[in-house]
Amino acid sequence: MLKRFLLCLTLTLPVWAWKPVTHMSLAEIVLRDLLDDGLISIYRVSGEKVGDFPADPELLAAVRAYPACFRAGVLGPDAYPDIATGQCIIHPEQSQGGSNAWLEYLWGRAKGLPAGPHRQQCLAWTCGFLVHAAGDMYAHDYINQFSGGDFELGQNAIKHIVLEGHVASRTEMNFPYDASIAGIEDFIYDTCVNAADNPDLRERLLIGPETSKSIPAEFSALRRKLDSDIAEYYRGSRLNPIRAAQCTYKEHWRDDIMQGLRAWPATSHAVACALFFNAAGTARVEEAQAILERYAKEHLLSMAGAPDAAGKFLSIADEVAEAVLPKEALARLKRWKNNLLLELVQSGTGIDLRMYKQYMGQPDSHFDQFLGMGSVGSGRKINMADFDAQELGLSGLTFDYHRFRPAYNTVAMTRLIFLSRESVNGVLAGLGSNARLTKDNAMLGFVAKLDGSRQWDGNAEKMVVASDPVVYTRLFFP
Ligand SMILES: [Zn+2]
Repeated sequence: MLKRFLLCLTLTLPVWAWKPVTHMSLAEIVLRDLLDDGLISIYRVSGEKVGDFPADPELLAAVRAYPACFRAGVLGPDAYPDIATGQCIIHPEQSQGGSNAWLEYLWGRAKGLPAGPHRQQCLAWTCGFLVHAAGDMYAHDYINQFSGGDFELGQNAIKHIVLEGHVASRTEMNFPYDASIAGIEDFIYDTCVNAADNPDLRERLLIGPETSKSIPAEFSALRRKLDSDIAEYYRGSRLNPIRAAQCTYKEHWRDDIMQGLRAWPATSHAVACALFFNAAGTARVEEAQAILERYAKEHLLSMAGAPDAAGKFLSIADEVAEAVLPKEALARLKRWKNNLLLELVQSGTGIDLRMYKQYMGQPDSHFDQFLGMGSVGSGRKINMADFDAQELGLSGLTFDYHRFRPAYNTVAMTRLIFLSRESVNGVLAGLGSNARLTKDNAMLGFVAKLDGSRQWDGNAEKMVVASDPVVYTRLFFP
């Protein structure tokens, strides 16, 4: 817990396992297999084909119609509802039921929508989110061997960044940079941001000691407080003109918070594209900074207690704000407006954005220094040339997922995500297993934390294939 706290305190961006482009590249392999004929090919690790299985018809239709929403979903909680909330609350085990609770919740909400294009868009995005989870599951387990363990400050952090950056630089960019959440901002707002109106978020998902890092959590709580103050005023006599003015002020404040939170998903999407999903392949820090500065000016300032209508209420503004929230809490909300990017990505010590850009931008020139045989810190040591040959199985510029085990496992799991329950059970039966999927999707029911090790079989609930260890070794590398 302490480690997790330090992690979020010091920096949140680089705690990836696959960088977003690697997530995307592996997803694309399965997407192509899916879209050519609606069938998913399942293979043994030996390369022998188990068979072609029909995809879940609804997922197939959704992803076929809205591939850009699917790709946005593949960015997953690295991007949505924002970097800090995803990193500090959705990836680790913070919620009741851990990361799986989020996956099940998003899936349930998408499946609960009325039939039509909007449901398809939301389902495509949610499906992408599950695919992200599959990638994290295998990548975190792998990267931790070299970094010496779960992310922590210092040497370990740099190992993470350099290794993930290196794998990304050897990834085939086989996909278009077209991720989009146009049309589903409201779904992301409802399911990941607006905890004020959503008891699931408030009571079991968007919770834990890290919520002070989360704009959705903090401002939803503030909105609830304002709502209750406003309701209380209307229950009273309403004769006091000062209290009337205070209430009007609070109503403006509340409205600005709602507007700002509504704008949050689109803002986060733009930031994610600038930082880690653009065709230039570089972290466009300045662009992200500009997007967030605009957000701070247009929304955060007023959300943190200076509503747009504040001019009219100048005389009472401070007094009202301090009556609503203690001074320290207000100051905490206001800190965001100063440097939102820094707050989201990093705060304080460890690695700053400039270093991050440097290590991430040129991971190869730092590989041997931080991961090589002579490097310091714990974890398996390997020089870049050996890593490329032995681990990535590199013969050209980019790795072939068949030869790079965690990438292979990610692809194998992604294939199962697209299958209907009947098809998954068909695969299991065909391999002689008695295990059966009872959940709606093979990716649901077992991941306690997206950034943990051995999530497929390390928890009480296991991934359906992993519940039969013999069959597991036929479909996945150890
Ligand atoms: Zn992730």
